[in-house]
Amino acid sequence: MESGYGRSVLCSHVQCGRSAANRQQDGLAIIVLLNLANGGTLASGEPLTNEQYSASSSRPTTGTINLTAPASTTVTYSTHFPHHSSTLRTTTSTSPPDLLTSAASRRRRPQKRKRPERKPPSSEEDRSEEEDGDVKTKSDASPKALECPPLGLESLRVRDNQLQASSFQRAGLGPHRGRLNIQSGIEEGDLYDGAWCARYEDQNQWLEVDAIQLTVFTGVILQGRSSIWSWDWVETYKVQLSNDSINWVTCKNGTQDMIFTGNRDMYTPVLGVLPVPTAARFLRINPLSWFVNGTICLRAEILGCSVHDPSEGQRDEGDSGSNEGLDFRHHNYMEMRKLMKAVSEQCPDITRIYTIGRSYNGLKLYVMEISDNPGKHELGEPEFRYVAGMHGNEVLGRELVLNLMQYMCREYKRGNQRIVRLVTETRIHLLPSMNPDGYEAAYEKGSELSGWALGRYSVEGIDLNHNFPELNNILWDAQEVAAGQGGDGKSKVPNHYIPIPEYYTKEEAVVAPETRAVISWMQDIPFVLSANLHGGELVVVYPHDCTRDWAPREETPSPDNGFFRWLATVYASTNLAMANPDRRMCHYDDFQATRNIINGGAWHTVPGSMSDFSYMHTNCFEVTVELSCDKYPHASELPGEWENNKESLLIYMEQVHRGIKGVVRDKTTKRGLADAIIKVEDHDHDIRTGSPPNTRTPEDSLSTRTPEDTADGDYWRLLNPGEYRVAAWAEGYYPAARRCRVGMEARATPCDISLVKTPLLRLKEIRAAGGKIPQDLQLRLRALRLRKLRATTRVLNQRRHRQQQQQQERRRREEEEGERKA
Ligand SMILES: [Zn+2]
Repeated sequence: MESGYGRSVLCSHVQCGRSAANRQQDGLAIIVLLNLANGGTLASGEPLTNEQYSASSSRPTTGTINLTAPASTTVTYSTHFPHHSSTLRTTTSTSPPDLLTSAASRRRRPQKRKRPERKPPSSEEDRSEEEDGDVKTKSDASPKALECPPLGLESLRVRDNQLQASSFQRAGLGPHRGRLNIQSGIEEGDLYDGAWCARYEDQNQWLEVDAIQLTVFTGVILQGRSSIWSWDWVETYKVQLSNDSINWVTCKNGTQDMIFTGNRDMYTPVLGVLPVPTAARFLRINPLSWFVNGTICLRAEILGCSVHDPSEGQRDEGDSGSNEGLDFRHHNYMEMRKLMKAVSEQCPDITRIYTIGRSYNGLKLYVMEISDNPGKHELGEPEFRYVAGMHGNEVLGRELVLNLMQYMCREYKRGNQRIVRLVTETRIHLLPSMNPDGYEAAYEKGSELSGWALGRYSVEGIDLNHNFPELNNILWDAQEVAAGQGGDGKSKVPNHYIPIPEYYTKEEAVVAPETRAVISWMQDIPFVLSANLHGGELVVVYPHDCTRDWAPREETPSPDNGFFRWLATVYASTNLAMANPDRRMCHYDDFQATRNIINGGAWHTVPGSMSDFSYMHTNCFEVTVELSCDKYPHASELPGEWENNKESLLIYMEQVHRGIKGVVRDKTTKRGLADAIIKVEDHDHDIRTGSPPNTRTPEDSLSTRTPEDTADGDYWRLLNPGEYRVAAWAEGYYPAARRCRVGMEARATPCDISLVKTPLLRLKEIRAAGGKIPQDLQLRLRALRLRKLRATTRVLNQRRHRQQQQQQERRRREEEEGERKA
């Protein structure tokens, strides 16, 4: 690159939007130091990172720890520090508890637990619609320097070769590791360590960023080193600028060199604003002092506007325009609500907004339903869901889901055949924000200053992805016991619809209201397929998430491993960011080696995850998608992220139409049978036909289903291509089986099964109706009784015979004994 920009450009006042002009008028050079309380506290769903660990160890104990409820405690498991001393995994209840759907019990809060003060839920509702648009977001008050976007050290838009340093300790601490929020590997001396660290401890060290093009630099964000072994951060530093990386000018505050204030801990990002926005190509961070017991280490992000397009970076401030007409910006709760409402008004025929409950702070969990007949389950039409924002600070999924609803509405109206087909053949549910409280906390600090963990947890400090009942080990233990009893005992243990254990339904169980709401939702709607959208990595994770016997990390495939791998591959191979062969790894895990998919257990165990629960407790298959290296991408990244994910989001939904589908019916009456079990040969995981919804009280009822549209008896069994023997079984009916072939195309093979009532059920029904028993039934019942009697007699005779043999044997042995003694 040429170095032709004259030195005169340096430290000249190039306008960077309104903000620069304002600042010039003020004539003030200010350093804005934001000392952020790190809100991220306890452990993680992604591997426990150093930041989260450090934060958790210093955290006040507001989130209570319930030792009798391991799956729902706020202390969670991790690759690094597994602690699972107290476990109670054997209690089971035979039926799904009412607690989860009872509004009364929901209002009754456990008294032992000390909870943070709860905001009155009404506050949000009292506001009129007009006020919605005027709600001032707190981030409006954030420093003007933030109006220029980050160069992309965190997002990896700045490539490794754009980062240089005066020196570095070793390869794993090179300049390419000096990126905001980068996470270190766990081994000491790791190749993927958590910062740039200088080799020498003097004031001549620097980290240099080449912006490649002339850029108006407005600020520097500094963060300490991510490490579990040492504490290192830079406390003060200077900033130098250059156009050619040879001649450097130090940023001044008036006539003096500007001394920027850096960090006081390892994980809180601190913003340093340049007194005067300055155009240059290269920027150096030059540490002056550092933590007394540590050394020179830092992670950074640089803020700057491109000179060629000074308006860049302001696009997110209110401008919702884009060539696709989608609203690319971060939407807080009120803005999200407004957007959803607008979409629903644009497409009233195919949308419906409903809520599934409230967050701890009383924010509603809104769902957008998209279907040609909103509000109804239609016979033979599968139900799909996307859940985003379970971790409040992993915000990309929320925006993608909002983009998706806008896109589907618009394309449906345009007659886009692919979208029309999806909408008419599928009932789609989109939950953009499962943890709205956490989101609001992260949103207040914004994309660059929220750090790595602020807003991840619920207000109570609960990690929602560890908060579902852990059913895996309950099933595996039961299978082990059954297998120990010999024979085909294992096949007698139900391999699906595992009931929620007793402890989980107790009052003192630490279960977040957000988790309860989602569980009720899952029990209410016969979902077939789902994805749980996260951030902070680039990989698709498939069940099981929880390993056997609490191993910290172990490949733990489910009986549907093949199909789950297919699902994960469908998303990962169409995602432009993941599929890019030139991408570098986000932090320290190389997921490209496994084609950007991984088994949850093989990554790190997560007991009580949503996807395991979904698979074990309902018919619904779910994978977890880690959407981006950066948990909270800057708004300017959103159009690109939509492009990265658009095809993946659509094609993944289309997978709900794979495998077989059908209706299980009574052969005589043709009525659909609810709760019939579908068994597929060589797949140790059954599914069931549609069952009646839970009875819900009006307050919590979101009228997702009404009693008359239940008992359809329809089912979906996701399967890879092949030929399968499919058996159906329902109480009071003889089982029946047939063969069904699944092709390569994404269209479910119809596979209806009719069942014949057993004479006993017929008898019961006739008696209940007070009718007369017809002769044919009388004869059949008599024959049945006779057969049963014969069978019983045979069993009794066999048993008697065995006993006789045993007695003879005993007698023989006693005689032998007697002879020997004699
Ligand atoms: Zn997450």
